[in-house]
Amino acid sequence: MAKKKPKLRFTTYDGGNDEIHCPICGTENTHMTDVEVYARHEDMKGCRTINACGYSGNLSTRTTDNSKNPSCRRHAFVLKGHCENGCYFDISFAQHKGRTEVNTELTKPKNLSTNQYEYIKGIREWEEKTRH
Ligand SMILES: [Zn+2]
Repeated sequence: MAKKKPKLRFTTYDGGNDEIHCPICGTENTHMTDVEVYARHEDMKGCRTINACGYSGNLSTRTTDNSKNPSCRRHAFVLKGHCENGCYFDISFAQHKGRTEVNTELTKPKNLSTNQYEYIKGIREWEEKTRH
């Protein structure tokens, strides 16, 4: 059985702003803090990695080896954030052929079970039990 992974969830409003939930614990109180761009042509060995911090306004640009690029062959964007319960997460958009793959990842567990997959499994079981 495949491991459960964090899922993107939103509250949507007609006529208002939609809100993203923490992909780990589900709270609506989230903060998006940084954007990372992994820029490269298809199959380029290195890539230009750009980081913009939303708090400080600091920008950095460097050449990296793609080891953190979510796209295995092309470019990607990563939104970095945290929730007010202490979860730190990445939401990535990775180009793969004609598709854009969206993934979430717990980047720094805090106030959580040490095993994120067990924690997420518990959340999903609770969601199933309380589904309307
Ligand atoms: Zn959370």
